[in-house]
Amino acid sequence: MKLSYEQEPNGMYKLHKTDFDDIALMLLREYLASVVDSPGEVDINYLIKDCLYLDVYCKNLSANKSILGLVAFEDTTIPCYNLHFEPTTFDLVAGNIVLDMSLSGQRQLPRRRFTLAHELSHWILHRSYHSPSNQVFALKKVGYLPCGESEISIKKKALVTESDKEEWQANSLAAAILMPKFAFLHCAYQELRQHFGTGAAVFSETVDHDKYKAAVGNIAAVFNVSFQATEIRLDQFNLIA
Ligand SMILES: [Zn+2]
Repeated sequence: MKLSYEQEPNGMYKLHKTDFDDIALMLLREYLASVVDSPGEVDINYLIKDCLYLDVYCKNLSANKSILGLVAFEDTTIPCYNLHFEPTTFDLVAGNIVLDMSLSGQRQLPRRRFTLAHELSHWILHRSYHSPSNQVFALKKVGYLPCGESEISIKKKALVTESDKEEWQANSLAAAILMPKFAFLHCAYQELRQHFGTGAAVFSETVDHDKYKAAVGNIAAVFNVSFQATEIRLDQFNLIA
């Protein structure tokens, strides 16, 4: 998939809010067309492994669980920990994604799926930015990018540093991939009508807390994402009061 967006002198794409939906839809139409219009879980594992041929590994990435995931931009070796939490290393090739062991298990599935989509988004958007051949950015090039809880969060925050901007881009694209615009809006309006009536324009917690929880929870379940990620996606479409 070739991106044709303007780039900053350092190689980072200049992207606006609506660009992420365009990139996600371009990707999904090519590999997983059925999810573009029909609400349902986006098979992020299939997209990453079978469509884009990127490998995913699971390791103890830090001793204190501060790193949730990472992606390699070139062939490299990362520090990690074995099952007894003794320091070791692991060899990666460019495009490999590694998730932290703490994301294993059924309860962690929405977070694991979002982290996978976040790392895939770094690969799609930022590999030219981090490329070893990107001489402009050579001083800051990294072989791999570790992401923690604060980076993999789509809560609104000020974009002060280049890193903030980079993480915001990865989160925005991850949300657009896991909750594709048209399927998401279709599902959201259906839940809105069902819980708040045909005249309702937005989901409002103050109007009815229980209905709000049920409606947003239903949408989250359809896309197998977290409640919080669903709220933020609804907010992006101005559907939350
Ligand atoms: Zn990140």
